[in-house]
Amino acid sequence: MKRTLSVVIAAFVIAASLIPAYAANVSIDGRGVQFDESYGEPFVDQSGRIQVPLRQTMEAFGSTVIWNEETKTVIIEKDGTKVEVPIGQMYIVKDGQRISNDTAALIKDSRVYLPVRSVLEAFGASVSWDDSSKTVKVSTGAEQESIPTISPTPTQSSNVTQSEAAYIGNSNTMKFHRPDCRYVDQIKDVHVVYLKTRDNAISGGYVPCKVCNP
Ligand SMILES: [Zn+2]
Repeated sequence: MKRTLSVVIAAFVIAASLIPAYAANVSIDGRGVQFDESYGEPFVDQSGRIQVPLRQTMEAFGSTVIWNEETKTVIIEKDGTKVEVPIGQMYIVKDGQRISNDTAALIKDSRVYLPVRSVLEAFGASVSWDDSSKTVKVSTGAEQESIPTISPTPTQSSNVTQSEAAYIGNSNTMKFHRPDCRYVDQIKDVHVVYLKTRDNAISGGYVPCKVCNP
């Protein structure tokens, strides 16, 4: 049974009076993530890795978060990419593939913390550390999308109209979706590619979205 994490967190909010002294700040595309003591604050774990409160960070990152209570796993989705982060395990799972990690997500004071670098890098973000400001700087790359993607079959895709399209491709992420997938709305117009068949999508280099399973 999946429960939203907010339910889990809300049940455990502790009104402790902590002095806010973050071991680290987090900035995503130049915007600082606001942490507050009721949801926890970033800290450095025993492996020297920065752990960040799950919900604030991942929502600021623009992803959706689901908590699987049975498997004690955080399931994060963004732009058709799914990353599963099991609590206490030295790996994460990106689109079904296990990636080993040198530290693990954890629960501290009833709050879930994620190793920020490995999780966000799994989504293709670049993550750096600015020591002078003690800030984890995250770039989603959304502003630098001008890297030209060679359209595999430009004439073919331009011939397909929206009404003919069985699937919608994203020429930036190279994922393809069912038209009713919630990630379709998030595709920028310039990256929308109409695909007539699944074979067209696959042969054009598109990878099926893990959320809508086209
Ligand atoms: Zn999808």
